[in-house]
Amino acid sequence: MPVYDFRCSDCRNRFEIFLTYAQYDQHRPLCPACASANVQRVIRKVRVTRGDEGRLSSLADDANLDALDSDPRALGRMMREMKNEVGADDLPAEFDEVVNRLEKGQSPAEIERDLPDLGEE
Ligand SMILES: [Zn+2]
Repeated sequence: MPVYDFRCSDCRNRFEIFLTYAQYDQHRPLCPACASANVQRVIRKVRVTRGDEGRLSSLADDANLDALDSDPRALGRMMREMKNEVGADDLPAEFDEVVNRLEKGQSPAEIERDLPDLGEE
């Protein structure tokens, strides 16, 4: 079950909740500190240590991008926005290459085939 990070816009409290994707669509989280509904989703840093499953699937999990699997360009845009949010320092060197390929319309499966080093440390 994915963990979602939120930050309360009223009291700045940061908290995590476990939700299924279906719950996430319907759930309106409340701040556990002040009960405000004025909370913002926080995109977590990209995990780069998962290994064989591939970084692309990790990225997709974190951003809840399942619906974008069939739209590489939209996925590429989302990943670029995510990079802007987390900063470039912690991202793998091939991140830009992957984003560029997605934006050209390559599917994640094709990219993993072309870039066999993805997922290796
Ligand atoms: Zn709060």
